[in-house]
Amino acid sequence: MTSAPAAQASQAPAARTSGTPRHVLVTGGGTGIGRAIAARFASRGDTVTVTGRRAAPLEAAAKETGAEPVVCDHTDPEQLAALLERLPERVGVLVNNAGGQTDFGAPDEDGEAGEGGASGLASYARRFRANLEANLITAALTTHALTDRLAEGGAVIHLGSIAADKGNGAYGAAKAGLAAWNVGLARELGVRGITANVVSPGYIAETEFFGDALTGERRNQLVADTALKRAGVPEDVAETVAFLASEGGRHITGQVIAVNGGAHSTR
Ligand code: NDP
Repeated sequence: MTSAPAAQASQAPAARTSGTPRHVLVTGGGTGIGRAIAARFASRGDTVTVTGRRAAPLEAAAKETGAEPVVCDHTDPEQLAALLERLPERVGVLVNNAGGQTDFGAPDEDGEAGEGGASGLASYARRFRANLEANLITAALTTHALTDRLAEGGAVIHLGSIAADKGNGAYGAAKAGLAAWNVGLARELGVRGITANVVSPGYIAETEFFGDALTGERRNQLVADTALKRAGVPEDVAETVAFLASEGGRHITGQVIAVNGGAHSTR
């Protein structure tokens, strides 16, 4: 009788082993979902760096979670290069959370954008590019900068959106692009035992995402659209991110995991 093959699980690299502290970078970790993700990893004993363009929310998040705050605009290669010097040699988990719907709060250029002339087109291109920069370029650039420093067995997680499936102009296109780009990234990193996934939230309350753009009526509609009849909270997303980076998530890669209370199913 032949003996059973050795258990693969026992060969899990340190970055996946329960209780082993890792270094975690959470982009946009000063507010909302990113802040909850930073708190979740810190509570596990990991060391965490949080980034964003504004110092004040980062410092508040640092006080709450013990994370190290670093001001960094993830669309800017020079600021990213400076960030690399503030990180340890090995990063176990990269969470590309920075982003948002850049049309919210943007100056109202609708009249101009609707025009067929050059200035209307320039305005449309500017707004479209802003969403691609904020949601797709930030993640691609940050991952590219850190690729060689990701720990064997580590995890990369990007924040996508239900908008990638339901549509929502340039923002939805940017988040859909993120998911498509991640498929190739998962193959590239997989040979080092590193997983790469997208967590795709539906409506999540208690963040700065909507600013003043959410009416009470729209909020009620978003909650009514869920099967669970409640708004998501940042901790709902943080739990899923933590799982994907855990030992339990070691064979999940190249996927989009929806956290939307049943507001939309890809099946
Ligand atoms: P928040 O606006 O609270 O968080 C976004 C964070 O990203 C902010 O801390 C912001 O900080 C940071 N950020 C934005 N652009 C940059 C940049 N160029 N460089 C560095 N940091 C940046 O909203 P959420 O917590 O809700 O959003 C987190 C992620 O979840 C986003 O990617 C969003 O698209 C996604 N999402 C959110 C949903 C929701 O309903 N809340 C639904 C689906 C997806 P600063 O302005 O200081 O740079």
